[in-house]
Amino acid sequence: MVAFTWSIETFEGKENIGKAFAKTAPAAAPHSWAVDGSPGIGSDGETECWLAFQTAAGRGKAHVRLDSNGKAITLATSLRELEGRPFATGRRRALGHPCENVSEISQPRPGRRYWHERRAASMPSALGGEAEDPYVLIIGSGQAGLSLGARLKLLGVPYVCVEKHPRVGDSWRARYPGLLLHDPVWYDHLPYIPFPESWPVFTPRDKVADWLEFYSKAMDLNVALNTSVVGALPPSEIDESDAQAWTVLVKRGNAGEASTVAGLEEAVLRPTHVVFATGMSGYPRVPEPPGAFDGERMHSSAYRGAGGGCFAGRRAVVVGSNTSAHDICQDLWEQGAASVTMLQRSAGLVVSEESILEIGMKALYSEDARERGIDHELADLITTTLPFKIQEERWKAGTERMRALDADLHASLQDVGYKLDFGVDGTGVYGKSFRQGGGFYIDVGCASLLATGKVGLRSGSGASIARLDGDAVLLESGERLAADLLVYATGYSSMHNFVRDVVSGDVAEAVGPVWGYGSATPKDPGPFLGELRNMWKPTAVRNLWFMGGNLSQARHYSRLVALQLAARYDGLDTPVYKPHVDS
Ligand SMILES: Cc1cc2nc3c(=O)[nH]c(=O)nc-3n(C[C@H](O)[C@H](O)[C@H](O)COP(=O)(O)OP(=O)(O)OC[C@H]3O[C@@H](n4cnc5c(N)ncnc54)[C@H](O)[C@@H]3O)c2cc1C
Repeated sequence: MVAFTWSIETFEGKENIGKAFAKTAPAAAPHSWAVDGSPGIGSDGETECWLAFQTAAGRGKAHVRLDSNGKAITLATSLRELEGRPFATGRRRALGHPCENVSEISQPRPGRRYWHERRAASMPSALGGEAEDPYVLIIGSGQAGLSLGARLKLLGVPYVCVEKHPRVGDSWRARYPGLLLHDPVWYDHLPYIPFPESWPVFTPRDKVADWLEFYSKAMDLNVALNTSVVGALPPSEIDESDAQAWTVLVKRGNAGEASTVAGLEEAVLRPTHVVFATGMSGYPRVPEPPGAFDGERMHSSAYRGAGGGCFAGRRAVVVGSNTSAHDICQDLWEQGAASVTMLQRSAGLVVSEESILEIGMKALYSEDARERGIDHELADLITTTLPFKIQEERWKAGTERMRALDADLHASLQDVGYKLDFGVDGTGVYGKSFRQGGGFYIDVGCASLLATGKVGLRSGSGASIARLDGDAVLLESGERLAADLLVYATGYSSMHNFVRDVVSGDVAEAVGPVWGYGSATPKDPGPFLGELRNMWKPTAVRNLWFMGGNLSQARHYSRLVALQLAARYDGLDTPVYKPHVDS
């Protein structure tokens, strides 16, 4: 991870590892290797050990797993800090005063600017401040944009986050109000400010939103709100005078949705790097079945909940069978819809929260783990020491255990016709997360509604909508379902589309898709890439980056993206070794 390759890469087999080492070691110049802490025994009985090392650029941490003959099974290396540009934490924290040194703090300063004035001035002049164009422009201020902003701020790299919404956290506030993080608190901390000890295990939607807003303020992040990126030209390869900077057009003002930005104030920014932190849920996939529908229909992203009885008495049909579909069915049922029916066209996976906590999380992200000295940052590192090929074997074993724990749950769902899918190779929720970024539901209440028939279910190819017919939905099976509310919980398409719309089709084509690692499974075609496509590392288009993922991934990988950007800011040699093509 970055230390040798200036990318995030995995190599397998002696030949590939040898080649990678030969190509990268001269520039990385690794030295001063030392055992860091005591070796331990891993879950498969192998000897594990952390190592500290230095490269030409900075300080790294490595992890090695040895077999019983003392031969390495895996070696993971990660850059943690740059030599000349450490994170401004601990002893290096900011003074909070305009002077550089405590010894000068007692000197009065005529005309001194107040803190809030200095903060405002630190924004780029194009966005109302006094600073030059930022080195890094981050599009989006969800957890991905903010985590990266925090890292860059503490590295002293000029950056700005632009956010089309009026408030940080609005991307969460705009989701259905019943939403609750299905991952537990131990997994969800943001960098530098962990949740308080009393924070609930599962964070409700508005608490996530407010925490993000608080975070942006507590970390003094430069976030330009009500600012939509509407166009971006990459650094020109032809005109040398232009070669270093993007030209980014933003529209400013309270526009609501980006599609209504016409007539707003415009500004142009010239950052060197552009990071797309625009989320995986910007592009709703909305089916368009033939026929006319008299009732109300919407994509799940536009579903604002059934609170206040706004859908009471309605006959609702929800298309889809992953998280949003389940959450929305449950919400409609709980808020008094007359009937709720889920349409499950392709098989999905339901996992109990017990399985996630006990089997998925407990070893690394739990109070138990903390008592064993594993905090979330160490847990992140441990997780990323395993290459996907080895992880897949562990995912299969984990899925088997989950299936055993969830046997009754699964049987009750199958009894009502729910089609279960544990992945073509039995890698369950784990495989689905990394290959398709979803495709499962962690049960927080809807499964029992399905199993008891309180929420109806139609599944299989017959559950596809053949046509809409006034006050009903006609299914491929021939069934006519009376309906006056239709919700498409049919997911989202990739961040790649955002590049197509904001930059160009050619650039989007050059970059290729985002996410998935080439597992050669139906939703993640090969070739095998070893790491996620285009995430958190240089892409095929110079100075274009992607930042995203769940809260844990945003936390861990923001450090690596920030180090890659900071090294470039300092003009360090950053030869990228990237033998895989992320397409
Ligand atoms: C219903 C639902 C439930 C989820 N539950 C969980 C969960 O339990 N745990 C978990 O870890 N993850 C969950 N996720 C997944 C993921 O963590 C979230 O989608 C999260 O919001 C992703 O964070 P992000 O920063 O990558 O993107 P977002 O939060 O989507 O942030 C992107 C930001 O970019 C801004 N933006 C977009 N276009 C522009 C533009 N042109 N100009 C300026 N700004 C722009 C948006 O306004 C937005 O604020 C869930 C997702 C969904 C949809």
